[in-house]
Amino acid sequence: MENTNLDVIIDGYRDEIVETMKRMIAIPSISPSSGGEGESKRADFLQALLESFGLKTKRYDYKDGKSTRSNLVAKYGNAKSTIWLIAHIDTVAPGDLKAWSHDPFDAIVKDGRIYGRGTSDNGQDVIASIYALKAIMDSKLSPKYSFGLTLVADEEVGSAWGMGRLVEEGIFNSSDMFVVPDAGSAGGDEIEIAEKGALWIKISTIGKQIHASTPDKGINAHRHAASLITKIDRFLHEKYSASNPMFDPRVSTFEPTKHELNVDSVNIVPGSDVSYIDCRVLPDYSLDEVLKDIKILAEEEEKTEDGLKINIETVNRSDTAQPTSGDSDIIMMLTKSVGNKLGIKPKLVGIGGGTVAFFLRKKGFPVGVWMIDDGTAHQIDEYCTISNITADAKVFAGLFTE
Ligand SMILES: [Zn+2]
Repeated sequence: MENTNLDVIIDGYRDEIVETMKRMIAIPSISPSSGGEGESKRADFLQALLESFGLKTKRYDYKDGKSTRSNLVAKYGNAKSTIWLIAHIDTVAPGDLKAWSHDPFDAIVKDGRIYGRGTSDNGQDVIASIYALKAIMDSKLSPKYSFGLTLVADEEVGSAWGMGRLVEEGIFNSSDMFVVPDAGSAGGDEIEIAEKGALWIKISTIGKQIHASTPDKGINAHRHAASLITKIDRFLHEKYSASNPMFDPRVSTFEPTKHELNVDSVNIVPGSDVSYIDCRVLPDYSLDEVLKDIKILAEEEEKTEDGLKINIETVNRSDTAQPTSGDSDIIMMLTKSVGNKLGIKPKLVGIGGGTVAFFLRKKGFPVGVWMIDDGTAHQIDEYCTISNITADAKVFAGLFTE
């Protein structure tokens, strides 16, 4: 019956949750590399909030040029083993402000939803984690596990100033368990235990520009880029063809995506061409091997015409770690808590995106990635549903008392 009590406590926070979200969203928390100032002001706000609950907090502030990249850690309880909830406080930039129906930093509430940049990604679960912790404190229960709350920086741009560094600070113990509420399904029926590796490749092809009526005097960079991309596409799909039903799609994906403007006129043979490929690779394979294959194919293409030069660069890379076992305690507890609160049995899945779970899994920590996700991350008119914040909070609180 304790749990019902926790649910009632969490439902009682509804107005406070909305107010906290609105105040948090009003403080932009965007990476300097995306034109922002970093996370420190938002971390100040959240630190003051947590301390007003009577929690001790610790900041891990890292200097990133002129900006401060702030991570915030709080812990409650004296149990030997800790369950950590890890949410990120940075957001992507709002994008085209004119496209928004309202100011993305002045969150509005409509039809049970809160609209604003970062309300879903990852505001929903920054707030849900905080109020799950508050509910445990207010219930006066002594939780079976210590409650760790980690609010991290820099998730959107690679985590170098966030979990990538925090995981080296000696905060976490070998018996600790982790929940990363930063990906999920609309019904909350998916727990992610595995992620594909991601590799973004930039292919710069340098030939020689010439009038299109005399192509023999130039080197057509676009033709060579198109030829190479077609070869890469075919080769990678054939070689890396393993399939794993835990993932959707089940196979590794290799997609030619962005193509930079080469020439303005139809009658010019382009002397340079820049294209990109997005690779999402099953944990069975190494990204180094994929990269090596791409480079070999580029060298072969280069040899097809004198004077042609092709450069391969990695513009983004997140390696994959061993999946978390479906039999691990945290996955079983999460499955049970989701079942108790939502009345569903979640399935265990792998995803093509990456979360900070990677950094933890790389260290051998067990991590479940779960949230009820409306899927509005990074979009214009991003929103989260208020009842999803409280439902997530109930599932999290349930982990500590079941
Ligand atoms: Zn996120």
